[in-house]
Amino acid sequence: MSKQRILIWFRNDLRLHDHKPIYQAVQEQAQIIPVYCFDQREFKQTSFGFPKTGNYRAQFLLESVADLKKSLQKLGSDLIIYWGFPEQIIPHLAQKLKIDSVYYHQEVTAEELKVEQALKQELQKLKIQVNSFWGATLYLTEDLPFEISQIPELYTNFRKQVEAKSTIENPLPTPKELPSLPSIELGQIPQISDLGLTTPIFDKRAVLNFKGGETEALTRLNQYFWQLDCLKEYKETRNGMLGANYSSKFSPWLARGCISPRYIYEQVQKYETKRIKNDSTYWLIFELIWRDFFHFICAKHGNKIFYQSGLQGIDIPWKEDWKRFNLWQEGKTGYPLVDANMRELAATGFMSNRGRQNVASFLTKNLGINWQIGAEWFESLLVDYDVCSNWGNWNYTAGVGNDARGFRYFNIPKQSKYYDPKGDYLRHWLPELALIPGSKIHEPWKLTSEEQKRYQIRLGTDYPYPVVDFFKSVKANEKIYNNAINRE
Ligand SMILES: Cc1cc2nc3c(=O)[nH]c(=O)nc-3n(C[C@H](O)[C@H](O)[C@H](O)COP(=O)(O)OP(=O)(O)OC[C@H]3O[C@@H](n4cnc5c(N)ncnc54)[C@H](O)[C@@H]3O)c2cc1C
Repeated sequence: MSKQRILIWFRNDLRLHDHKPIYQAVQEQAQIIPVYCFDQREFKQTSFGFPKTGNYRAQFLLESVADLKKSLQKLGSDLIIYWGFPEQIIPHLAQKLKIDSVYYHQEVTAEELKVEQALKQELQKLKIQVNSFWGATLYLTEDLPFEISQIPELYTNFRKQVEAKSTIENPLPTPKELPSLPSIELGQIPQISDLGLTTPIFDKRAVLNFKGGETEALTRLNQYFWQLDCLKEYKETRNGMLGANYSSKFSPWLARGCISPRYIYEQVQKYETKRIKNDSTYWLIFELIWRDFFHFICAKHGNKIFYQSGLQGIDIPWKEDWKRFNLWQEGKTGYPLVDANMRELAATGFMSNRGRQNVASFLTKNLGINWQIGAEWFESLLVDYDVCSNWGNWNYTAGVGNDARGFRYFNIPKQSKYYDPKGDYLRHWLPELALIPGSKIHEPWKLTSEEQKRYQIRLGTDYPYPVVDFFKSVKANEKIYNNAINRE
């Protein structure tokens, strides 16, 4: 009997370790044809007109695909690369190469599912088998104690049940060798300019020089866990904003699937045996369960996560104030914590979790601006953009998520003083405020004209006055929110 030919369609799973489609195909002793397709729709614009994939993520993606290709070559195989629509290219290629089955990892959100559906239909017509696998989360669907339709709406309920009743699968091994490809045009990895973008210039102030790919992902884990021993104090440092090691920075690699969450889990367990087991080692898993939660919630609720009324269906009359939105976007709101974070995002494609929560709260609870515009801006810029984590967190922060517990906001000046007590982070990103000493930097609008002279800052010229009064704006938006809730 001749060998089965299996086409592996790589998507947000750009790795060879713990990769079920590849593993399965190897078990079946099949001839394996790995394919990656740059989907041109990913390089168009978002509904509010931002580049859907900005240059930070595009560069990271190109590096990730290049790394995957190299790894496949080392094992005796290669990666076939295309540009276009996967649902057209793959059936065409499958027919040409007489493929028996197409294997891939499932996604859960609208655009990705649409492509999957269309692909399945085309392959069915050609009588080519399709086998899709679940693999992006720490807990796999088959190990959950509930059906997707029964996923608890509250994170704590979800976490407690999976922790009590589910197990986390061991990561699957990386294949040792792979069969060579038949003679075929391999295609080329595009240049960033082919995607209509320019190479991002590395900003030295960035937390890390993120490089895409499985190799870099595994190196980062090795560094953060084993070389620098940072995991043992993760719970205490994770709310930081400055430097490479206050948190793991795994998110860009997780988002493109360069590292498996189950591999991270296995390494945490090893660390707990060999080094130390404490609240910090647990807390990294706790955060990965948040990631799972948003993934499963998206699978459960379909398109709702993208609706302006969110998962809760709350119709809030959000503003579309582009003038103020631009101030937020450019880091010119007059609130240093918001401005520093927004400038970091624009300059590097990354922002800490603490920063994301504060800027999202400011946009929605102080400026009352449509959260979807903020979510799309993040989608465009974030090197670690993950559809479920981004839209899920924005739902949550805007108060329209499944966990909406009334109108909650971040007290920005208070957060600023608490999480950046010496103002080091603010000085790092706001050079115009750099000479303001001590805690005065958190509230520059309070400086007297005497102090402004002394610290060489002219408010209203070098740095803006606050765009809104903090508490008045919160009160006004709270009223709008409560009116909307009471109407429901
Ligand atoms: C408005 C908003 C938008 C966000 N958008 C994204 C996004 O597009 N992509 C993304 O990966 N994360 C997103 N997050 C979650 C979080 O901010 C990032 O995962 C985290 O900052 C990444 O840094 P890290 O890898 O060092 O995290 P660590 O603190 O080291 O955490 C380890 C991992 O746990 C996961 N994780 C941690 N916190 C969260 C969380 N709140 N939600 C979901 N997963 C979490 C991530 O995969 C992260 O890599 C968003 C948060 C907010 C408030």
